[in-house]
Amino acid sequence: MSTKHTHAFQAEVARLLHLVTHSLYSNPDIFLRELISNASDACDKLRFEALADPTLYEDAPNLDIRVTFNKAAKTITITDNGIGMSEAEAIEHLGTIAKSGTAEFLQRLSGDQKQDAQLIGQFGVGFYSGFIVADRIVVESRRAGLPAEQGVRWSSDGSGSFETETITRAARGTSVILHLREDKTEYLSRWRLKSIIGKYSDHISLPILMPKEQWDKDKGEYVLLDEWEQVNAASALWTRPKRDISDEQYIAFYKTIAHDDEAPLAWSHHRVEGSTEYTQLLYIPAKAPFDLWNRDKKAGVKLYVQRVFIMDDAEALIPTYLRWVKGVVDSADLPLNVSRELLQESRDVKAIREGNTRRVLSMLEDLAARDRLPEGEAWDKLSDEEKALAQRDAGKYTRFWAEFGLTLKEGLGEDMANRERIARLLRFASTHSDAPTVSLADYKARMKPGQQAIYYLTAESLTAARHSPQLEVFRQKGIEVLLLGDRIDEWAMSFLHEFDGTPLRSVAKGAVDLGELQDESEKKAAEEAAESLKPVLERLRATLKDRAKDVRVTSRLVDSPACLVVEDGEYSLQLARLLKAAGQ
Ligand code: ADP
Ligand code: MG
Repeated sequence: MSTKHTHAFQAEVARLLHLVTHSLYSNPDIFLRELISNASDACDKLRFEALADPTLYEDAPNLDIRVTFNKAAKTITITDNGIGMSEAEAIEHLGTIAKSGTAEFLQRLSGDQKQDAQLIGQFGVGFYSGFIVADRIVVESRRAGLPAEQGVRWSSDGSGSFETETITRAARGTSVILHLREDKTEYLSRWRLKSIIGKYSDHISLPILMPKEQWDKDKGEYVLLDEWEQVNAASALWTRPKRDISDEQYIAFYKTIAHDDEAPLAWSHHRVEGSTEYTQLLYIPAKAPFDLWNRDKKAGVKLYVQRVFIMDDAEALIPTYLRWVKGVVDSADLPLNVSRELLQESRDVKAIREGNTRRVLSMLEDLAARDRLPEGEAWDKLSDEEKALAQRDAGKYTRFWAEFGLTLKEGLGEDMANRERIARLLRFASTHSDAPTVSLADYKARMKPGQQAIYYLTAESLTAARHSPQLEVFRQKGIEVLLLGDRIDEWAMSFLHEFDGTPLRSVAKGAVDLGELQDESEKKAAEEAAESLKPVLERLRATLKDRAKDVRVTSRLVDSPACLVVEDGEYSLQLARLLKAAGQ
């Protein structure tokens, strides 16, 4: 006889469960997506471990996921024959949250049901979402390779604790049994469950099976048969030819892999041939995830080798500044038993990463080119179909920039090979534009005759930049200055010395040399002023000698009496402050 053990949930889990069970989520359907996604992960893990040890398949090499329900008992059961869990694993995986950022996640929950449901999906606290519809969950499992007597039954009512006991379970894998809440019995319907699977899990690459149903005229109701029917498409979408895949299918696939309810802005699907062969399906999301600023988070590109899932935190496949890209890479060349270490060193992986980077940048270039609707004749020349596409894509790049623009700036420092392309994708606010829509090319096209540099100003905020006295002379002469107010700007711009042959100059550094924009009389006046003000400057220098390196007469001010500048090649005031704040 086995004994039951009671365990307390980790404090974070208990808090999360409280939130899950006390908020009625506007979209309770997601429980099924999460549990099917776990079942699918478990099968992927089995396939991966079985590469090294094929005996793990035991006598059941065909992996699938089965969803059934019992009206009388008011239960829904999701069964997989994947890797399964030992008792210790069940205690650990279903009682704690191993992920970093849990505390942050809990803080982010807003109380807004819709937003929170989306966050739950993103964070992947998937299993616990079962408690949205169930007041008791029982999990029965046996890990692949362990004897039948070492199965485990885990159960909980979603309050502070859960119980485990050892059971005998012949079948490898896991069953999750949901005891539905009284007000959630609507899910005891084949049609209902099937349509949720169709919506969220169609592209799970394993078969999802449901029992067939038949009208029983004695009972006067439908009864489930012992026969199973596949209810999802189960084809690895990316392996199909592009022409056979509809936009709706691409979008549905994105939603399953990204746990995102919103359609992506763009995607790109290619079979790359040449010395390294792979299929690439990459998406640009419409919304930044809540943990965009966590540079260590798992990247969103899943690695497959010949349709076998290998890993989904394959940072080696995409540079950090593009960490928000979602998608799939399926390689024909990598060995199936590829390890993390090997991934870091492999030439093929390097080629894939470069290929992915180029692809994402060209998707962005395309969105940027289509951001504004063509006008006048250019518009009239378009066919109706082209007009509809143009209208569909207009404004997307502006949206992208608002969500992810800052991460592209990281790319200036991170990806030297593509610096020029990244620079073209940057957008700025300026003295000529309140909205951050000015590209460096736009700026160049508006430069004054004789203007030799692209001028910019970094400050603590856009408002601070806009009101800086450093801008006075530029305003007076009508010269545009790009205004940057993000923390990362100073650092990022230090990597960008020129654009398309024109140097970039910070107006907060050194003497502003306006070159030919300054006429002779102005130059002379400045020189004379410097001469006549010499005694004043001497006095100021002496008084400020510990605090200012030099005191100069300047032509950059029009209304303000004085301003602070830093020497060329030194950190600007903004970065100096930042470094100081960081304790450097
Ligand atoms: P995530 O899937 O993001 O890891 P979940 O809360 O959905 O988070 O699941 C927690 C963990 O529980 C999983 O990482 C896995 O280790 C384990 N688990 C859940 N469902 C299954 C299953 N069907 N088979 C095996 N392990 C599972
Ligand atoms: Mg999960």
